[in-house]
Amino acid sequence: MRADLDYARQLDAHDDLAAYRDAFAHADDELIYMDGNSLGRLPHATIERLRAAVEQEWGGDLIRGWNHGWYEAPRRIGAKIAGLLGAGAGQVLACDSTSVNLFKLILAALALRPERRAIVSDTLNFPSDLYVAQGCIELLGGRHELRLAPAADGTTVDPAALYEAIDQQTALVTLSHVAFKSGFLYDMAAVTARAHAAGALVLWDLSHSAGVVPIELDAWGVDFAVGCCYKYLNGGPGAPAYLYVRQELQKAVRSPIWGWFGQQAPFAFGLDYQPAAGIDRFLSGTPPMLSLLAIEPALDMLLEAGVERMRRKSVQLTDYAIELFDAVLAPAGYTLGTPRSADQRGSHVSVRHPEGYRINRALIEALNVLPDFREPDNIRLGLAPLTTSFADVWRAVERLRRAVAERHYERFPAERLAVT
Ligand SMILES: *Cc1c(COP(=O)(O)O)cnc(C)c1O
Repeated sequence: MRADLDYARQLDAHDDLAAYRDAFAHADDELIYMDGNSLGRLPHATIERLRAAVEQEWGGDLIRGWNHGWYEAPRRIGAKIAGLLGAGAGQVLACDSTSVNLFKLILAALALRPERRAIVSDTLNFPSDLYVAQGCIELLGGRHELRLAPAADGTTVDPAALYEAIDQQTALVTLSHVAFKSGFLYDMAAVTARAHAAGALVLWDLSHSAGVVPIELDAWGVDFAVGCCYKYLNGGPGAPAYLYVRQELQKAVRSPIWGWFGQQAPFAFGLDYQPAAGIDRFLSGTPPMLSLLAIEPALDMLLEAGVERMRRKSVQLTDYAIELFDAVLAPAGYTLGTPRSADQRGSHVSVRHPEGYRINRALIEALNVLPDFREPDNIRLGLAPLTTSFADVWRAVERLRRAVAERHYERFPAERLAVT
């Protein structure tokens, strides 16, 4: 029977990435972790790296650490991230947060199209991305309009509706490659080509796709991108993010934050700002070194595993979750909040239920499953190729069923906790 646990175990037995699971900390072997899309697990190698960074580098090298690998870290780690994004050398930096990098790149992009007055995004985008765009518009005097393509069915955006919003007034199209709630995946190459045909620039947020979906920023002609390192990149809570600026644009663009790390010669301590050549001009101030160094061990592992293999397993995991959804969860009153077609889907699956919030609480507090909840009724199952097993998916689905069938959720209030 494909719907029983033995079948999941067979899938695990044939999984060529299964061995990576042991490279990560599992403090509670019984916990079913479904949040690799929100906070990726901790690699054992990161524990050792941070121990060395604290004891030997901070403790022993002290300030000499800056000349022993700290100063280059944003570029060195950026170059590793670039290997997951189809980006050649000198175009990616690890720095700041995703929101701050969006701010820097939206303003840089708008300055390249001063005569155009529209930013196009969609209603599936992560709110912070839209807030930052709104803030940029206010900062520039309210002369721009933010147009949001609708998601008619609540989970996907019809490309025709998006293209209708893009015209000769559009300076920038900025979208999440994979939508945080539904997991909807855009055809980045097609949208980028369409935006360029209208003379607009594109800025992609890769937070929910980097590491699990193949990306070819250079080949697809993408102008700008940002993304976050604490999700599928396993960089740790609040890890610095990254940004990408296409080589050809680098000379013409400026960061709105003229910090000394983005200066041509920071240690000349000149009084006037001259932007550094190339991508470095998008650095701002001193990086949070311990957090930055913590990203690197996981990246080495992800690069070794390879995006193609991770995507293959990711599709198998999400296909399997949807197969079990149809067999087990649809009859229990859940609906699917994620596209059924794998080529429109990232690596998480949302299941919806009118009691979704209370079910999510019951999963966490009574059934030892950790998914997360997104308003109004989405329970997200984040399936990380290096750390999620098929047996995990089976168990999570079985406990989602039990949370309703055995009425566990009735013991929990509908009032929201601060972080859902
Ligand atoms: C996670 C995520 C962010 C997070 O931004 P921070 O500045 O790190 O808080 C931003 N955008 C998208 C699309 C995300 O998925």
